[in-house]
Amino acid sequence: MGMSFVALDRLVKGGQVTEAEAPRVAELWDEIRRLKRDKRAFVPAHNYQVPEVQAVADLVGDSFELAVKARDLPPDQARMVVFCGVRFMAEGCHTLAPERPVYLPRLDALCSLAEVDADDVAERQDFLRAAGRQFATMTYVNTYAEVKALSDSCCTSSNAAKIADRLGVPDILFVPDQNLAYQVALKTKRTYLPPPEPHKFHPREYAEMIEPLVREGEKQGLRGNVFAWEGACHVHHQMSVGDIASIRRQDPETTVIVHGEVRPELQRAADQVMSTSQMAKYVDAHPEKTRYAILTECGLVVRLELDHPEKQFYKPCRLCQYMKATDLESVYRTLRDEPPEQRITVPDEVRGAAARAMTRMIELAS
Ligand code: SF4
Repeated sequence: MGMSFVALDRLVKGGQVTEAEAPRVAELWDEIRRLKRDKRAFVPAHNYQVPEVQAVADLVGDSFELAVKARDLPPDQARMVVFCGVRFMAEGCHTLAPERPVYLPRLDALCSLAEVDADDVAERQDFLRAAGRQFATMTYVNTYAEVKALSDSCCTSSNAAKIADRLGVPDILFVPDQNLAYQVALKTKRTYLPPPEPHKFHPREYAEMIEPLVREGEKQGLRGNVFAWEGACHVHHQMSVGDIASIRRQDPETTVIVHGEVRPELQRAADQVMSTSQMAKYVDAHPEKTRYAILTECGLVVRLELDHPEKQFYKPCRLCQYMKATDLESVYRTLRDEPPEQRITVPDEVRGAAARAMTRMIELAS
């Protein structure tokens, strides 16, 4: 997590901003900086945001780091927040600090992973209870507050295994990312139980599918099970082992890092599996490594290229249209107008339970 400050000529040279756009970008940066000062606004940006938005943000990082930072800011330093990211992030920020208004620059900045129906989660919990399983529900921060509210603890991709270790029960219902669920099972020595097909959960068929796997895990002495939910991030889930194989053929010495949201076979083929912030720290901490292939959303890779012009980054990355919905114009307008319809809130009865799950994560992870 850090401040991102990139000069405009670097963005023009790198092709992220065209010559024609540059004067308007400079103008918007000035205006945004002036508004931030005048209104005492805090503007965090996710690692996947476009570079010209990251450049004018107060802080760049992953969703959880940004929400915790926004919570801990003294009120006189941050009267309001304009969250450059997607909706669940702004919700998380509001959940942790409800008294501070949080605005989202674009209401179409959603997330394919976060689209989970809370009633379906409650149904799966009933199923596990009826089956006599001793389980805890963990939800990834990439969920809406209604789903967080049903869970025992939230987690991020960097602390998921630690949280699973500390929850003190053998079984975990992991919502919503099936690939991160695999990573948690592997790291905590539990059996990975694949999800049912999306929207096709039938208790009897599902029980028949998982029972042999549960028995096999018990025979191997594993300590419990991870029941994976049928969710995936469409950006990471579409990456394939072929992406890694072709880079390795081209350059066997390159370091391959993947996000925990990629499919299990890619996690096995990579050198490292990390969260976005861990990736940035890893590249900083290894000056001897000069060539990388980083499989995640392209925004992080562009930022690493700008931060490390001496290194080479192959680009098997993919774009997330939701993350790219936010541009400088929308950040500027939101700061200027504080449009009431762009203020993100969560009903109080949901917020309390969601906040408990987020706070439990903070306690368990520390
Ligand atoms: S990259 Fe994936 S997880 Fe992140 S906002 Fe886009 S769809 Fe959601």
